[in-house]
Amino acid sequence: MIPAAFEYHAPKSLEEALRLLSRHGNEAKILAGGHSLLPLMKLRLAAPRCVIDIGRIQALRYIREENGRIAIGALTTHTEVLESPLLRAKCPLLPQTAWEIGDVQVRNRGTVGWSLAHADPAADYPAAVLALDAELVAASVHGTRTLRAMEFFVDMLTAALLPGEILTEVRVPILPPRTGTAYRKLHQPASGYALVGAAACLTLGPGGIVERVAVGLTGVGPKAYRAVAVEKALAGKKASEKLLTGAARHAVPEHVEPLSDLQASAEYRTAMAVVFVRRALESALARAQGKPR
Ligand SMILES: Cc1cc2nc3c(=O)[nH]c(=O)nc-3n(C[C@H](O)[C@H](O)[C@H](O)COP(=O)(O)OP(=O)(O)OC[C@H]3O[C@@H](n4cnc5c(N)ncnc54)[C@H](O)[C@@H]3O)c2cc1C
Repeated sequence: MIPAAFEYHAPKSLEEALRLLSRHGNEAKILAGGHSLLPLMKLRLAAPRCVIDIGRIQALRYIREENGRIAIGALTTHTEVLESPLLRAKCPLLPQTAWEIGDVQVRNRGTVGWSLAHADPAADYPAAVLALDAELVAASVHGTRTLRAMEFFVDMLTAALLPGEILTEVRVPILPPRTGTAYRKLHQPASGYALVGAAACLTLGPGGIVERVAVGLTGVGPKAYRAVAVEKALAGKKASEKLLTGAARHAVPEHVEPLSDLQASAEYRTAMAVVFVRRALESALARAQGKPR
């Protein structure tokens, strides 16, 4: 189908994009890789009066080490994340997660920015950035602000971005030695999105004690969340299979209402959250111990 008529802008700089967004307000939509917005416009489920195509702003496309962290521009594609030697060496959870997204075409076009700014409850990166305690940078004509991943996902399809803001960058930590990470996902067979996705980041201390652990979950509830109860059940204890299995039972806390739809009931999602958190923790532990997994 042909979309409704719209005004098209292709700014060459972030500043120009922000000025356009500020001028057109709610009537404008940002276009990044186009993978989500264009189908919606063709189906006329979205009919923005103005489209601001940020896809040509090369300054938003990078992966670099900066001030002890790794900074990733919002226009970086999933394939670029997957293939980045820097991320693979120093923060492999993001490439591990990117590998699980859609198929080759989706990974070649889809951008990191959408996956986070759109706050899709079944998108994969939200689980990973929560487990990494990442920072997200939002820019507007008034300046920039930095948000922690834990405060970024507000509700279903709602991120903590203000009107007129563009997500410009994600900053993830360089992981310390004896850290293992893993993303384990139950794919929705038709779309490839996550029915349940669990990301784990685990650091071992002396004597095999769990020094630091963080677990992010996507697909389960209306928004991605940190499984804090799982983390509390592990921190400071000697890592073992039994400990991980027990901790994983806390994957769905009371304040999270699991989604129930045609694809999976709330009961099934809850059961699978426990299974996939356990699997992510087991793989992360094995990697922290230097075993391939
Ligand atoms: C068949 C298919 C399968 C998929 N499977 C998966 C999957 O398994 N897991 C998964 O996580 N994802 C999946 N996706 C989503 C994919 O990862 C893409 O990232 C997504 O489709 C859109 O990315 P885009 O850059 O093309 O966004 P666009 O369509 O260009 O943008 C969509 C909207 O996102 C917002 N936006 C984009 N960038 C920014 C920004 N920097 N700041 C503020 N707002 C912004 C805007 O509101 C914009 O209108 C799938 C998509 C398809 C089509």
